[in-house]
Amino acid sequence: MGSTGATATADDLRRVLLFPLPYQGHINPMFQLAGLLHSRGFAITVFHTHFNAPDASRHPDYHFVPVPGDGGMPTPAGDSSPDTVQATVKHVLAVNRACEAPFRELLAGLLARQPEREEDVACLVADAHLMTMLDVARELGVPTMALRTSSAARFRFFTAFPMLCDKGYLPARQESSSELDDAPVVELPPYRVGDLPSACSAAAHVNMREVISRAVTAVMTSSGLILNTFDALESDELASLRRDLPTAVPLFDVGPLHKLSPAASSSLLRQDRGCIDWLDAQPQGSVLYVSFGSLASMSSSDFEETAWGIAGSGRHFLWVLRPGLVPGAGAGEPPPLPDGFDAAAGGRCVVVRWAPQEEVLAHAAVGAFWTHCGWNSTVEAVCAGVPMLCSPCIGDQMGNARYVVDVWRNGLMLAGGEIERGKVAAVAALMGEGADELRRRAMELKSSAAESIGEAGSSSIMVDKLILELQRKRVERNILCFEEHPQFRSPL
Ligand code: UDP
Repeated sequence: MGSTGATATADDLRRVLLFPLPYQGHINPMFQLAGLLHSRGFAITVFHTHFNAPDASRHPDYHFVPVPGDGGMPTPAGDSSPDTVQATVKHVLAVNRACEAPFRELLAGLLARQPEREEDVACLVADAHLMTMLDVARELGVPTMALRTSSAARFRFFTAFPMLCDKGYLPARQESSSELDDAPVVELPPYRVGDLPSACSAAAHVNMREVISRAVTAVMTSSGLILNTFDALESDELASLRRDLPTAVPLFDVGPLHKLSPAASSSLLRQDRGCIDWLDAQPQGSVLYVSFGSLASMSSSDFEETAWGIAGSGRHFLWVLRPGLVPGAGAGEPPPLPDGFDAAAGGRCVVVRWAPQEEVLAHAAVGAFWTHCGWNSTVEAVCAGVPMLCSPCIGDQMGNARYVVDVWRNGLMLAGGEIERGKVAAVAALMGEGADELRRRAMELKSSAAESIGEAGSSSIMVDKLILELQRKRVERNILCFEEHPQFRSPL
């Protein structure tokens, strides 16, 4: 990528503290950012929860600080990550509560021990949903930046949330109809009413409102917002955010992060590389890659219909079946395929628990991606020039799918509601001749992603600005007084 020479020198080694939200789709971009900052001369300290803890052995150059507190905290589905908006919102609030005191103690201890010159702490970059940690750091005089791991459009939705409540769009009505779902959100194009997240109860709506409002405040009171997006993809949304953010909060659109950083290696599940050998043997553009990310779940009847749709389509598939995809099925293992599936699929379908997704999407054999439209998956598909078939489930996924289908026009919506084997035939259309326009758009977007990280590309410039900003940041030591706060002394 291009550089204006903003790399830190060994004499000016600064340390950046990072704290990811403990879900795969949040951990990956945080570690990609870590890789980027490390390659530009910063020392890295990663604070993390015990739940979904990263594997420190894969990052021997980083310093890892486990934050106790979440050990006894139940997650909605035992050991797995929450799979509904309501459960996620509750879990995010619980993580914030549980980690506050231990994080305060650990951070204060780290500051008390930091050498005067070298490895001076520059900043805490925390996930914007770890709003309490951002508050704690600021209270201790540590500059903060918020990383948001979804789109710029999604943050615009966050800032518009109170207005959408005032106008009656939210909370979403329990009774939905295709007519209502298709109605435009006039104040926030291109969203439609059905793209807005629905809370299943008044209490869930209150929790969602709290998380969104606190996440917005965390960003607005930080000294920078980092987004994993790029100008050519979301230029209007980024321009609008720049108008709305306080001047003290510069916006760094540095994506696509997975293209800027050395191999992420932050996967919580072991990636099965055997599927790459199988892809090597398939004709160009012939395979449909199917994955719904780390959180989305489907009912057992949707799962059966998907399996029979795949088997009956005549196409080649690489299908990620992770444990937990069908709640209650598989007991820690992937859900069992229906009897007779292997014979019906006739060797055209390879199933893995977890794939090396970036590599899969970049493989010449992959012609399309049937996705839940998580933001990382969406950006990864954009960068690989792969058209998408969208089955959004929760959170930001409906909004991401809306952009894919209506704005970027590099994908199709798999008709909403329950999956039927017949609908899976849309897969054939996506990869057939009628998809030339989708492919053309996908390749255009791939080029613009590559340009953004090339010499003088928009993201390259933003990365340099971010590096300069981090080099300038300093802990405000004068507001720290450890002698007066013995509780801040850490055994570390
Ligand atoms: N991923 C992967 N292997 C898989 C499926 C997904 O490595 O088999 C990665 C994918 O590359 C992406 C992340 O997991 O970086 C999923 O993030 P996303 O935002 O797409 O969805 P989420 O899991 O948060 O719903």
